[in-house]
Amino acid sequence: MSQKVEPGNGGGTPLSSPPSEGRADLHSHTTHSDGALSPYDLIQRAHSVGLEVLSITDHDNVGALDEATEWGAGLGMEVVPGLELSVSLGEKDVHILAYFFDHRNPDLLDYLTFFRRERLKRAERIVHKLNSINVPLKLEAVLEQAGVGSVGRPHIANALLDGGFIASYHEAFERFIGTGGPAFEKKYQLSPADAFKLVNKAGGLSFLAHPGKHISELDLSQLIKNGLDGIEVVHPAHDEKLREYYRGLVNQYFLLESGGSDFHGGKKNDDHTLGLFTVPMHVVETMRSRLFS
Ligand code: AMP
Ligand code: FE
Ligand code: FE
Ligand code: ZN
Repeated sequence: MSQKVEPGNGGGTPLSSPPSEGRADLHSHTTHSDGALSPYDLIQRAHSVGLEVLSITDHDNVGALDEATEWGAGLGMEVVPGLELSVSLGEKDVHILAYFFDHRNPDLLDYLTFFRRERLKRAERIVHKLNSINVPLKLEAVLEQAGVGSVGRPHIANALLDGGFIASYHEAFERFIGTGGPAFEKKYQLSPADAFKLVNKAGGLSFLAHPGKHISELDLSQLIKNGLDGIEVVHPAHDEKLREYYRGLVNQYFLLESGGSDFHGGKKNDDHTLGLFTVPMHVVETMRSRLFS
């Protein structure tokens, strides 16, 4: 289905005049992690809303990239290799977006396999905790939701919803699996320095994903010292004020900028975001020139 969406610059604020260059969305998910669409369907949707570049950034998984690149090429769309990793920053769970790495790098692939195994063990622990508080969710129901994708809390939320244990997707996080909830379990996480090294060795760039209001300048300077290349400025969780704030930090610390919709589809009810949270093409070219010049 073709959907007409005005190209925007994030925060849901449409641009007043048509952009003179193409638009890129550098943050999206498929069925290879917690997204609802297959790589093929996501590429079709992205093309139908007028995107010229899409980065697929599945959690701990690069399985969508080959297929998506091929589907994209057929439509004249570029697919930038992407990935979303989780790192621990003190007590915080911080997300890192990686771009332009070699998605066949053996070390990287080994790590991703390990992370996905750890995710599976964590899902088992969460189901166990749920069962112990009289929520008889079965692991099989979660695995059915995850399919080939890296299993995560969104799959558990979907399984709880489909099983009639909760009335909305968000209730899963509020009542059970959100940070500090009765069935919360931590994920295996790298240190930021190790994550940046992994991405760097595979030839890619690392960005701080959707920092929102949760990152202090002290934490940020620590990440920069450890090898962070840029910040995701445009994201549905950032209003205009936050975008300006992070753009300022990007300039101040000579970092790169990124941005996208973090589109997942399905029960997340974020269908409207694809095509609205974008960056201009020169942002992609600046990343490329940092790597390849
Ligand atoms: P995981 O990587 O398995 O810890 O799952 C993290 C994902 O769960 C995030 O990327 C969000 O999509 C989702 N999530 C985390 N916290 C919440 C929340 N409070 N409400 C809704 N979704 C959430
Ligand atoms: Fe996600
Ligand atoms: Fe994220
Ligand atoms: Zn994401």
